[in-house]
Amino acid sequence: MPEFRLYNTLTRRVEPFAPADGHTVRMYTCGPTVYNPAHLGNFRTFLFEDLMRRTLKLAGWRVEQIMNLTDVDDKIIRKAAALGTTISHVTEPFTELFHQDRRYLRIEDAEGYPKATAHIPEMVALVERLIAKNVAYEAEDGSIYFAIDRFPNYGHLSQLDKRELRTGARVAQDEYAKENAQDFALWKAAKDEDEATGAAWDSPWGRGRPGWHLECSAMAMKYLGETFDLHAGGIDLIFPHHEDEIAQSEAATGKTFARCWCHGEFLLTDGAKMAKRVGNVANVVELREQGISGTVYRHFVFNAHYRKQLNLGEDSLEQSRAAVRRIGTFAKRLAEASGGTEALVAAASKAEHAFIEALFDDLNAPEALAALFTFITDANRELDTGGTDVAALDRARAAFRMIDGVLDLVPEQEADAELAAWVEERIEARNAARERRDFGAADAVRAELVARGVSIEDSAQGTRWKRL
Ligand code: AMP
Ligand code: ZN
Repeated sequence: MPEFRLYNTLTRRVEPFAPADGHTVRMYTCGPTVYNPAHLGNFRTFLFEDLMRRTLKLAGWRVEQIMNLTDVDDKIIRKAAALGTTISHVTEPFTELFHQDRRYLRIEDAEGYPKATAHIPEMVALVERLIAKNVAYEAEDGSIYFAIDRFPNYGHLSQLDKRELRTGARVAQDEYAKENAQDFALWKAAKDEDEATGAAWDSPWGRGRPGWHLECSAMAMKYLGETFDLHAGGIDLIFPHHEDEIAQSEAATGKTFARCWCHGEFLLTDGAKMAKRVGNVANVVELREQGISGTVYRHFVFNAHYRKQLNLGEDSLEQSRAAVRRIGTFAKRLAEASGGTEALVAAASKAEHAFIEALFDDLNAPEALAALFTFITDANRELDTGGTDVAALDRARAAFRMIDGVLDLVPEQEADAELAAWVEERIEARNAARERRDFGAADAVRAELVARGVSIEDSAQGTRWKRL
């Protein structure tokens, strides 16, 4: 296997990456603010992170991914107040919708989705640590601020010119521009609006609520440790969000917070930034309504490198629709074929090699897709010759399964056919193992099936299978 390399925003270089313990990649990805449907721009970032986790697994590591759900912040409170309701009434349906949308796009489950409101004690404890270290102070109104001039490394990630730092001046909002690099709020004293919407908690400094940045530091360290491997998000989070996460965490622990920082570029619509505030919003529900499958959007996103801006246009979605159709037709053909050729084996090896080479080079998905399409062309040519080599066909199927295990682009119907063909083949292999009383091998097949979400049951009529 080639060396796995990633672009690290901390160093502005593509660097070798491996988990600190050699086994498990501990990874934190900033999740959605659940007060609206997440838009397709948000999902571009979540898809880049899905590609990341699947590639890390391909490299042989386990992945422990935590994605927070921001269920208390300025925008949520404003919306709850306008509707005369509580923040949880606003956030619960959008949390549910987020998971539905995510599944539609085949984004794998993270290992945890902690909510900010369920971690207030951890956040209060972190603020207490910062006060004890003398890097945080209480303002007249009972809010607690982080003093950026007491953390010498402030601005390192976003390469802020130190002269821009406005020491002593304060900013209370969760989002602000680089020009406003000021002391930021860790804990905000409760206002009437916060109390009315259920967004206020007791603390040693009176009633209040956490700032957005604090939430991620507290939950990342709780679930992944004070130092973990990888932190990712969209490029807009570099400043102030990630800069502030680093300041709060490292000032408290004296240790490196995340070893590597990765940021995905923006999705644009007609050249303009896609944002919930702007009118040009498109979301997953609209994809569904227009009959655009999750695989089409996945292809569209993976067809651009994650560090390049991507423009959402109708013709590019049309191209992705055609590409996914081609992949589906090929998957079906491969599932139904009865044999291959020696050259098919060579094509499979070449494809695997090129695919891994591309993804391990800073997640170059467009090149990985090119490797897939070259394979489809080569393999189709070989299948046309009507070869009879069953082992060669198996080799091609394995290569395709490896590739699609990362990209996940086979449309529903063909995916079903492909799975069914594979399961039947595995059940036969298991029967053969049982006939020769090799129960270890038979159990191994069962485990393989379970790993792909298939359970089997033996009966007098033979072995039946179903999806878990
Ligand atoms: P939010 O719900 O606004 O906190 O955003 C959730 C994630 O989506 C963050 O990682 C953002 O960086 C990312 N994001 C927001 N807008 C876009 C966009 N237009 N393109 C790509 N990612 C985005
Ligand atoms: Zn975050």
